[in-house]
Amino acid sequence: MQTVYLDNNATTRPAPEVVEAMMPFMTDLWGNPSSMHAFGGQVAKHVEAARATVADFLGAERPEEIVFNGCATEGDNHALFGVAAAWGKPGTIITSRVEHPAVLGPCLRLREMGHNVIEIGVDGEGLFDMAAYEAALAANPGPKLVSVMWANNETGVLFPIRRIAELGKAAGATVHTDAVQAAGKAPIDLRQVPVDLLTIAGHKMHAPKGIGALYIRRGTRIKPYVIGGHQERGRRGGTENVPYIVAMGKAAELAQTALTDGTEARIARLRDKLEAGLLATCPDSRVNGSRTQRVPNTLNISFEYIEGESVLYHLSDRGICASSGSACAAGSLEPSHVIRAMGVPFTAVHGSIRFSLSRYTTEEEIDYVLRHCPEVVAEMRALSPFVKH
Ligand code: PLP
Repeated sequence: MQTVYLDNNATTRPAPEVVEAMMPFMTDLWGNPSSMHAFGGQVAKHVEAARATVADFLGAERPEEIVFNGCATEGDNHALFGVAAAWGKPGTIITSRVEHPAVLGPCLRLREMGHNVIEIGVDGEGLFDMAAYEAALAANPGPKLVSVMWANNETGVLFPIRRIAELGKAAGATVHTDAVQAAGKAPIDLRQVPVDLLTIAGHKMHAPKGIGALYIRRGTRIKPYVIGGHQERGRRGGTENVPYIVAMGKAAELAQTALTDGTEARIARLRDKLEAGLLATCPDSRVNGSRTQRVPNTLNISFEYIEGESVLYHLSDRGICASSGSACAAGSLEPSHVIRAMGVPFTAVHGSIRFSLSRYTTEEEIDYVLRHCPEVVAEMRALSPFVKH
């Protein structure tokens, strides 16, 4: 049976070029980049080359603004706790209701620590409530941190991050964005978007799991989060993961190419074919999230009256990997906070499925899903107590 992997917002296949680039650092070039001797020192220049490539990919002014870390969760935690620690007093954190738990979790803790946390809502298409955001900025004097994602992991919906950053900066806030799901899918240019902090993760852009980066704009007041040695110019303790840093550099270079050589446009065409095909062949289905303000690889679709989990299970039996918009909580299937925040109708919340493509997705794979998914949906509906038979 063939495997059709359409769960690229969860993790991506490490690109063969990336694996090849990192291998020498697992075999011969295994020195510590902080060592004084030449054996370690020769490795440091590869770390710096990767830093320069990632900086270039993001449009950062200087390579030193890139801090390598262990994952996006760490980058988000560093941004939130690091800025609040630098305040040294209670402040306001403005975020959105549809952030990843890597942001919402720290926000919860910051609230317990005495900070004022404001969650901005979204409309039925998952679009950011700009008026509520402007009101929150105006109503809260004192230190402020804005943390709003660039693209949503479940729906792919893009937030107007440039405008959000401009308004935040004008109100005196430090601005962070979790760009994990935007990197490599939408152009990111920090010369145009005045955020102070930006999180990315290697494994969402064809590097391995276990590497991420936090961009810290020069002059941003932030304390370290992982405290230890002087690595990463004192901003993140811990011996650098050299092979994975090199991998991240290579992945950034490949992502940059994919954004300009028509690859992303091809992915969008395949996603649109999948979307149109499913809407046409599965009655009572609806797309969740804006269809215009969206990254090119993501489709979140609800099949009404059935459970997303059962659909996933049966798709998996046919070799198709996707994911659902629900999470197992306390033994019951709760619709995700993102789907809930959008006010998706009751009949559709439980049947939401996310298909996420990558540059390795082929037309044949999309055709395979279009043959099998409607069949699965029909089978599930035949068993559903909510459907009139
Ligand atoms: N932020 C977003 C938007 C994500 O989609 C993810 C992972 O799904 C993360 C943060 C966390 O990434 P990691 O698990 O690699 O730390």
